[in-house]
Amino acid sequence: MKSDTFQLIVIGAGVGGCSIAFEAAKNGLSVVLIDKRKKEKIGEKFTCDTIPSYVFDELSLPLPEDDEIRLIVKMLKVFSPDMHSHFTADIGAYLVDRQKFSQRLLHYTLTQGVCLYDEAEYGEPVIENGFIIGVHCRMPGGEEKEFRGKIICDASGFPAVVRNSLPDSVYRNEVLNSHDVFCGYGEVRDIFIPSGTMEGIVPYKDFPGLYYFIRNSGYARIIPERDGRVNIGCWVPLNSRNFNPEKLTKQYGDSLSAYIGKKIYASSTESEAYIALRTCQPELIGNGFMVVGDAACQVSPISAFGIPGSMIGGKLAAEAAASAIRKGDVSREGLWKYNIRYKTGRGAAQAFIHLIHVFLQNIKDQDINILIKTGLLGATEFNLLMMNQTYTYTRLDFIKKFLSGFPHIRLLFRLRFLYSMCKKMEKHYRKFPHDIKKFDAWGLKRKRLYQKLFKGLKLEREI
Ligand SMILES: Cc1cc2nc3c(=O)[nH]c(=O)nc-3n(C[C@H](O)[C@H](O)[C@H](O)COP(=O)(O)OP(=O)(O)OC[C@H]3O[C@@H](n4cnc5c(N)ncnc54)[C@H](O)[C@@H]3O)c2cc1C
Repeated sequence: MKSDTFQLIVIGAGVGGCSIAFEAAKNGLSVVLIDKRKKEKIGEKFTCDTIPSYVFDELSLPLPEDDEIRLIVKMLKVFSPDMHSHFTADIGAYLVDRQKFSQRLLHYTLTQGVCLYDEAEYGEPVIENGFIIGVHCRMPGGEEKEFRGKIICDASGFPAVVRNSLPDSVYRNEVLNSHDVFCGYGEVRDIFIPSGTMEGIVPYKDFPGLYYFIRNSGYARIIPERDGRVNIGCWVPLNSRNFNPEKLTKQYGDSLSAYIGKKIYASSTESEAYIALRTCQPELIGNGFMVVGDAACQVSPISAFGIPGSMIGGKLAAEAAASAIRKGDVSREGLWKYNIRYKTGRGAAQAFIHLIHVFLQNIKDQDINILIKTGLLGATEFNLLMMNQTYTYTRLDFIKKFLSGFPHIRLLFRLRFLYSMCKKMEKHYRKFPHDIKKFDAWGLKRKRLYQKLFKGLKLEREI
């Protein structure tokens, strides 16, 4: 079989794949990007995505302009399950036309000299002496083609097609728990707002932001679309007793029938709907292997924003790949820097946020109502969590929380326990070992912290 050789092979030309490919090419590597979709369809989605503004600063990426922008997002309104209480968090973000944004990234990537094979589907890895050294792909005409590379990167999104096909000798995979896998569903419908309405359970005219409703172990949402329409939908975990996101969205729409029209203009499809809301994979690298984006579980758990983690992860991976290739060592050890930089930065905050997400997912609706009504969990926390940041309470904050949460002593104790576990987990990630030999001990301690959390919250689940 004829094979083409590149220094870096990237499977998946989504936001994560384009980010690593672009940065790697900028660092002088020869890169091929392989995607099963047709070039023009890359990034295609039935609706828009929210991208926090800091991503553009951090990656020195030009801001969205003109018809790529649907809305400049300034606020997020979060409602309790009984809808009687809410708070408004400040967030700075852009709601963008996802396909236009993806096509812009693809354009930058191709302009940087990256070679694209579209309509080419990953088939299986080529493995030699414990290293992945290439991939077989099915090409548009149905024939098989081999690509050889020094490093192979899985950026195939949630399916993680490469990661899930590698033996332990190349990469140590952590299988996802169904508690952490969420299915999202959404429908674009009309919204009717009585004039003059400023407050309420649907966004008033020109509200610059999003509405989230915590419920069903996940959340429901209303996101503005253009032409007086909204995207209503929900996220539900796979292990939920109520697992039917489409049915839940319909019930939710019916409950708001005074404001939300029945006609469905567009809806999401099953294949684009899954996301892992958890910590990133403990290993982001293997021998000759890297993983970025949803394939690496780099989605921030409370916001479900995955674009920032995919793009920042892609950049860090590209820098580590270029350095490893220059040094002639693409082993797990040679690529280790990517593991360190992601885990001690974004990954540490993601771990803190995952614990809060687990808590919210598993406590009773009545308790969430109390948290929001009393301000025990409110705008101060969400302003940061939505931007993948952590928070620290001072002694005074604790006293204020105690006073506002009194007499819900049991809930206050659980919240105190949660906070201390979040801090311990964050610290553990910030101290991710620089020495690869200490990784197993780090992994064991991570497991123990999770077990302590699950036991303390009386949850029957594993990592
Ligand atoms: C309903 C929903 C709403 C979301 N809303 C937001 C939001 O508002 N803001 C936000 O930041 N994030 C949001 N996310 C998450 C965000 O979409 C993802 O985190 C992000 O797209 C991940 O990028 P990626 O590059 O890892 O994967 P993807 O964008 O999924 O790209 C993967 C690419 O790999 C290709 N591919 C897959 N399998 C193969 C194969 N076998 N061979 C070759 N190519 C393959 C695909 O065609 C695709 O182009 C949302 C996700 C969902 C499901």
